[in-house]
Amino acid sequence: MAFDFDLYVIGAGSGGVRSARFAAGYGARVAVAESRYLGGTCVNVGCVPKKLLVYGAHYREDFELANGYGWTPGHPGFDWPTLIQNKNREIERLNGIYRNLLVNSGVTLHEGHARILDAHTVEVNGRQYSAAHILIATGSWPFVPEIPGKEYAITSNEAFFLKQLPRRVLVVGGGYIAVEFASIFNGLGAQTTLIYRRELFLRGFDGSVREHLRDELQKKGMTLRFQSDISRIDKLPDGTLAATLTDGSVIEADCVFYATGRRAMTDNLGLENTGVERDANGFIKVDDEYRTTEPSILAIGDVIGRVPLTPVALAEGMAVARRLFKPDEYRKVDYTHIATAVFSLPNIGTVGLTAEQALEQGHKIKLFESRFRPMKLTLTDSQEKTLMKLVVDAETDRVLGCHMVGPDAGEIVQGLAVALKAGATKAVFDDTIGIHPTAAEEFVTMRTPVAA
Ligand code: FAD
Ligand code: NDP
Repeated sequence: MAFDFDLYVIGAGSGGVRSARFAAGYGARVAVAESRYLGGTCVNVGCVPKKLLVYGAHYREDFELANGYGWTPGHPGFDWPTLIQNKNREIERLNGIYRNLLVNSGVTLHEGHARILDAHTVEVNGRQYSAAHILIATGSWPFVPEIPGKEYAITSNEAFFLKQLPRRVLVVGGGYIAVEFASIFNGLGAQTTLIYRRELFLRGFDGSVREHLRDELQKKGMTLRFQSDISRIDKLPDGTLAATLTDGSVIEADCVFYATGRRAMTDNLGLENTGVERDANGFIKVDDEYRTTEPSILAIGDVIGRVPLTPVALAEGMAVARRLFKPDEYRKVDYTHIATAVFSLPNIGTVGLTAEQALEQGHKIKLFESRFRPMKLTLTDSQEKTLMKLVVDAETDRVLGCHMVGPDAGEIVQGLAVALKAGATKAVFDDTIGIHPTAAEEFVTMRTPVAA
């Protein structure tokens, strides 16, 4: 049967664009449908605008620190609309780059919502297109629990477009987005409270990291309420939002921001017309080569709910393109040692196993930890501390995990991820000569284990 396309990609986000461009580069006839914004979540309402807001939020501290170095910065004022307008301009520029990337690589772009009609047919803007393979790369969408007054809450989608910086913000959740946005609001001067339902946020991160960040956020004036949850939200006559917690207490805020996870985006996608199955959480089930339970349909990225990070979606997109159209270059995605950063203030950078995971997996471990006041702060009043931690296998000497909380943690840990991927031992770390004076050199100078 002759198809209109070899590959029809639904979603021009991180994974979809990468897959489409590579497939077209290998000579395949490729189309992409995009209903909302080119570049997907990461470019429009995710990684990129978030990082710009984090940079914006850090300036407040920078102005304060400058005093210690003899600068008199005066009384710096902050204007949220300027930050948002400048951010929007940059995102529009990136949208244009994504359009060019697709078009210049020979991909046909259909701007509209795609619905799957059968295993080989997609409908967009009232037209039908057939394809040998359909790739679902439709990403994810914020999930807000069903509570009375949930309509008054916003999510990250709206936060990027607020007209004004709220005076009082209540952030709900204890994952990446909650911690990052609480840091942004707090850094920009909003009175910020973070509410998380269990005993300590960032479940799954190393225990020392979670505790260290908790202490640092509190030092910066953020209110943290653990073991708490909201049971309802009411709007008072003056517009104030009153959040009633499960213990009956009430917190008033101008903005209630939910960051309680994300669900697969499969709305009106037509999955019922196919044999594509989902898992218990609604994510699309795939095998280890991203084939769904419908042989001609594949899925990658957030919609499969594996590791919802942009570089992972890119790797999965590339793997699909190669397997289908350049099999001699195909390699499976290696999910081990995925480094990640949380762009809280201060940042977290992490790669490999946490101490808790290493113990659970049966490793005998040695731990190396260092907490110090970074040199840059020595002439200032800031009492912020940096944490660095290595988790080492006591029997093989292999470094199992590197964890950091402090300025530029993501930048530093990215390099260490290469060392871990290469199987570096603690002896290799010890033999590595540091760069002085840096914070990063601490990772190669920790000699005395702490109690595991
Ligand atoms: P997406 O990028 O979401 O792309 C999916 C695309 O499909 C969207 O453009 C959507 O409009 C389109 N679409 C959906 N349904 C249809 C349809 N039926 N027809 C046509 N088009 C459709 N990751 C990091 O690695 N680092 C970070 O710092 C980071 N920060 C983040 C911050 C926030 C606030 C959020 C929300 C996420 C962040 N992420 C970060 C995660 C990252 O954005 C995602 O993992 C990544 O975007 C997933 O890529 P994807 O291709 O699976 O989906
Ligand atoms: P996460 O899954 O990271 O965190 C969700 C949080 O919400 C958890 O603390 C969870 O608690 C809590 N939660 C879930 N359901 C409820 C509920 N019903 N009531 C109260 N709390 C609830 O999701 P995010 O939305 O923060 O981010 C989604 C993903 O996007 C991340 O996992 C990450 O992969 C990616 N991302 C990456 C970033 C980066 O690389 N810097 C930045 C932002 C996002 P519990 O722990 O109890 O389950």
